[in-house]
Amino acid sequence: MASVAIIGAGITGITTAYALLKRGIDVTVFERHRYPAMETSFANGGQLSASNAEVWNRPATILHGLQWMFRRNAPLLFNPKPSWHKYSWIAEFIAQVRNYEKNTMETVRLALEARQHLFKWAEAEQIKFDLETRGILHLYRTKAEFEAARTSNELLKRAGLERHPVNPREMKLIEPAVTGSFHGGFFTPGDATGDIHKFTRGLAAANVRMGGKVSFNTAVESVTARPDRVEITFRDEAQPGGHCESEVSVFDAVMICAGVESRSLAWTLGDRLNIYPVKGYSITVFLDSQESSNAAPKVSLLDDHRKIVTSRLGDRFRVAGTAEFNGFNRDIRADRIDPLVQWTREHFPNVQTDRVVPWSGLRPMTPSMLPRVGRGKRDRVFYNTGHGHLGWTLSAATAELIAEEVAVRYS
Ligand SMILES: Cc1cc2nc3c(=O)[nH]c(=O)nc-3n(C[C@H](O)[C@H](O)[C@H](O)COP(=O)(O)OP(=O)(O)OC[C@H]3O[C@@H](n4cnc5c(N)ncnc54)[C@H](O)[C@@H]3O)c2cc1C
Repeated sequence: MASVAIIGAGITGITTAYALLKRGIDVTVFERHRYPAMETSFANGGQLSASNAEVWNRPATILHGLQWMFRRNAPLLFNPKPSWHKYSWIAEFIAQVRNYEKNTMETVRLALEARQHLFKWAEAEQIKFDLETRGILHLYRTKAEFEAARTSNELLKRAGLERHPVNPREMKLIEPAVTGSFHGGFFTPGDATGDIHKFTRGLAAANVRMGGKVSFNTAVESVTARPDRVEITFRDEAQPGGHCESEVSVFDAVMICAGVESRSLAWTLGDRLNIYPVKGYSITVFLDSQESSNAAPKVSLLDDHRKIVTSRLGDRFRVAGTAEFNGFNRDIRADRIDPLVQWTREHFPNVQTDRVVPWSGLRPMTPSMLPRVGRGKRDRVFYNTGHGHLGWTLSAATAELIAEEVAVRYS
């Protein structure tokens, strides 16, 4: 039986482990935290959203981005401080404008495929993750925004997504809780929401039941790919005093699923993965009273103008947004959290916002906005990483793809 070391226990690492275990491959997951899903897969927007598959590589989005750079509470924040990583990423992002249609259609295809796997796995493993299968409603305040969204909708539909325009009366029927004046919306009935952290932990437990190994509190220091094996050098992060000797384990192959750290690991293996950490924020509003619970939406929303997404996670309401280009900085800034709280108060005035937990995470974003799924330059090296703003939506599909490739290589 082939043995594979997976680096990272976020949604991509854990789904990949599951897909490999199903194919009879021996799996060990290395994770520097004490638990799975403690970084970007912790408190994201919760949307399983084929309807959000449009890549951002469009002249209109770039123009918006430039305008937003000068507004303090805009959905985009750009730290202009010189950095080769950031500016090379932006240059490649702009070069990908020519692939806008192709990349959007591929993202829709992956998102639709991922739905099938994820729901099947959750049922098979009895994972409870506050799943809501009520669809996603995109909101537009003005006619101009709504009409512009029609063009994107045509593309999404061409890629096979069932999504249709709705007027304000229909929007009210789909989600009666939302307050505000809207010109119209687009509704995607097949989209869903759920708690990425609960799902990842549930699937990680299933992996262990299937014989998978996990090494938590274990930071991988280096990976060496040799012609006949892969050596993983790691350190136990839980040692009292933080001092311990590095150890080495040997595998047939390695799978990099290390989120925003994938770029530096890939570099040591001779591969260039231009993954930039695009920071985002979320708030989790606790719906403690019956009044709050009734006043919060159950259908997931996407406010296209403000770039805010929401999901109902049982007795919690998650609101997420913001793209911040500021390196590996994970600080939770009050001036980025405030617009999320204000948005909640504006559209759901009867939801109490006295117990709100803020969070920030780094999206592992490639310039094309498509994940890197496949082999590295060296034999025995594989990647399933770089899922950007859609890792929750896409991981189940990319895990299946890469697991199949590994299974073929080692059969
Ligand atoms: C605000 C926000 C909202 C979002 N909303 C949505 C949404 O609504 N829908 C959606 O589909 N996606 C959403 N996303 C994106 C999604 O959350 C990410 O794409 C996804 O979580 C990335 O998963 P990952 O496994 O690649 O990375 P991670 O979850 O970060 O996992 C990588 C893991 O690798 C580990 N690791 C790294 N280096 C090492 C090492 N050397 N040794 C050991 N372990 C290591 C890390 O500790 C980490 O646990 C959102 C993201 C943000 C920030």
